[in-house]
Amino acid sequence: MRFILILILILSSCTLTTKKRTTQEVFSTEKIHWYQYYQIIKISKNNYNNFINLIEQKSIEIKKVHVDSSYVYFKISHYDYHNLKQENLSIETVQDFPFIWWDNDLTLRKNSLKTMIEGYKDYESITKIIFFLKEKYPQWIRIKELGKSYNNKSIYLVHLTNHQNNNPYKIPVYFNALHHGNELLTIEYILDMIFLLLGESNIDINQLNSLQQNSLKAIPLQEREVILNNLDIFIIPVVNPDGLDNFWYKSIHKGRKNYRNVDLNRNYPIYWNSSSLEASSSLVESYKFRGFSPGSEKEVQYIINFLKNDSCNFAISYHTYANKILIPYTIEHLWNPIPDRALYFAKKILQNSFSYRAKNYELARKLYAVDGTDQDWIYNRTGCIAYIVEGSMNLPEYSVAKYSIIGLRPIWYNLLKIALEEPRIELEFFDNKNQPIKPDITINNYYIFEKESFSFYKNRWIFYLGPNKKLDITIKYKNIEKNLQWECLDICREKIYLTNI
Ligand SMILES: [Zn+2]
Repeated sequence: MRFILILILILSSCTLTTKKRTTQEVFSTEKIHWYQYYQIIKISKNNYNNFINLIEQKSIEIKKVHVDSSYVYFKISHYDYHNLKQENLSIETVQDFPFIWWDNDLTLRKNSLKTMIEGYKDYESITKIIFFLKEKYPQWIRIKELGKSYNNKSIYLVHLTNHQNNNPYKIPVYFNALHHGNELLTIEYILDMIFLLLGESNIDINQLNSLQQNSLKAIPLQEREVILNNLDIFIIPVVNPDGLDNFWYKSIHKGRKNYRNVDLNRNYPIYWNSSSLEASSSLVESYKFRGFSPGSEKEVQYIINFLKNDSCNFAISYHTYANKILIPYTIEHLWNPIPDRALYFAKKILQNSFSYRAKNYELARKLYAVDGTDQDWIYNRTGCIAYIVEGSMNLPEYSVAKYSIIGLRPIWYNLLKIALEEPRIELEFFDNKNQPIKPDITINNYYIFEKESFSFYKNRWIFYLGPNKKLDITIKYKNIEKNLQWECLDICREKIYLTNI
């Protein structure tokens, strides 16, 4: 008996310690698209009375969303739509419409900031929220306009840090959303991070499925202060405001691209128009139209100019909904340096993330053929380790989208922790007049295939070591050449004076 009891105890403690949360046991959904919930249908005006009688008879809830000269348009649940289809009535589904017809509560939500937060957001809502936060937290948030879109909408850069703290060793990290204006969940991931870092709670986890106990609910003040005192968090919440506007107010098919019909994530000047036929297109009507020349689009130029000045060490560009973290390089035929720091950190970033889908988040490279992407441009031209995070859902009902938002929290949280804590070498260089300089730097103890260049951040050259704690570099400045080596297990900072002696 005692033996059995001990055995039971051992077995149960094993299950307790080895048991991992599986998606199925918590909550999972494959209802990740808007059209799995509601359809938009149209009824000709001749049929209108018959139709209304029928839905009253069947007690079907339906919402009128638009009227034109010939038709009345309704939003109807997927279930009711199939129910009605049995009847002998001419009901047509609408294939293209502005998203506001589907999410027609947006107008009401926009009456107050509190309700605005409780659903998908258009450009005006996002702008109101970030400016409200700036007014409320002037110590933490500054906003700069990078430029205007083709349709004259401001593209903002949000700078989140402790602006009253003059720590000269802040690390720059960069987040962006809505390269594709139809991917509304991407802005949710970004706003959620901003809210949590400011100590605001935007999602009431207690209202979600009761098994969400292990989710990241809040970040304690002390930890938030460490993050904001030591990181310069740069955020472009809406890369493509014109696409976002088109999606909400013109056509669900127009949201992906910008005002000139360019897929901004095929327009970056890196392997732009590579020989791959699948990667991007020269046809304006294609969903992956690469634009008129490398970096032809204003939105891309603003970002390139910003990153040339401010750089970053880690970056996330949000997309939906492949449920993956994409590691650079994502363009075919490009080779990663060896050892592969991007892969090393990606494994850490993935930890504890939760998709609320049947399959959890995975790491991937070269998921599909692309060229001219922001991720690869950033990685190659600035040395910033840039990921594409493809969120786990497309556009489900907002109550379901909340699961995707909280499940993604560990991803950005891990990235911030990595930026804070991982071993790195930070170098500052000075000439013989004690002026800061930016010499050419070649890394000798990595196999490098794509001639990556490494930007400075405010006169500092910052290199995260990843799997290899040694660094061997050659520095060239005018006629001076120096070879230097380090082994560093923590944060190693050094000032180097390049003189002709
Ligand atoms: Zn996308």
